[in-house]
Amino acid sequence: MRLLVVEDDKDINRQLVSALEQAGYAVDSAHDGEQGWFLGDTEPYDAVVLDIGLPKKDGLSVLEEWRRAGRTMPVLILTARDRWSDKVQGFDAGADDYVAKPFHMEEVLARLRALLRRATGHSTNELTCGSVRLDTKSGRVVVAGQAVKLTSHEYRLLAYLMHHMGRIVSRTELVEHLYDQDFDRDSNTVEVFIGRLRKKLGVDVIETVRGLGYRLDPDAAP
Ligand code: CA
Repeated sequence: MRLLVVEDDKDINRQLVSALEQAGYAVDSAHDGEQGWFLGDTEPYDAVVLDIGLPKKDGLSVLEEWRRAGRTMPVLILTARDRWSDKVQGFDAGADDYVAKPFHMEEVLARLRALLRRATGHSTNELTCGSVRLDTKSGRVVVAGQAVKLTSHEYRLLAYLMHHMGRIVSRTELVEHLYDQDFDRDSNTVEVFIGRLRKKLGVDVIETVRGLGYRLDPDAAP
């Protein structure tokens, strides 16, 4: 999953980016409303953390423009604690959730997990596909009852496929949702990671759909 953080406070921005990366997400960040708007308008993020008070373009305008342009990604807004009107205006502008500052990082992470699972049609942190179980809270992956250790890239790839199980996911889509914008993207690396995942999970877990991409079968035998 790939996220965007738009926050002008340098410390908060850095803390958010590092906590989200540590939680297994690919993260891009912007420090003003114009840059944030542009990234959210041009890149396919799975969710966005958007501060309301931003230089160059305020967060509410950024959000309204995204929604007007048909950008539907989940957006979590950061509001000042005593500004209830920010929350009302934020929801009316198209926000999906909010966290008031100062916030606990655990709360931001939990709310993002909830937004991501809701956006992909899941109701719990634990995703199951055949014999594979992935817990998006702990980052643990279990295959047939045995814990499996994945690298951060392998985890990100599996988490994306698990969130979208049943659907064919193209290589291009994977590249767009697994790497941040500074990453040297080479779509061939996706095949390498798929190969490594198959070695760790069992060869028949990830199906290759010739010419189209990859698919996890939610009805596969456990
Ligand atoms: Ca701010």
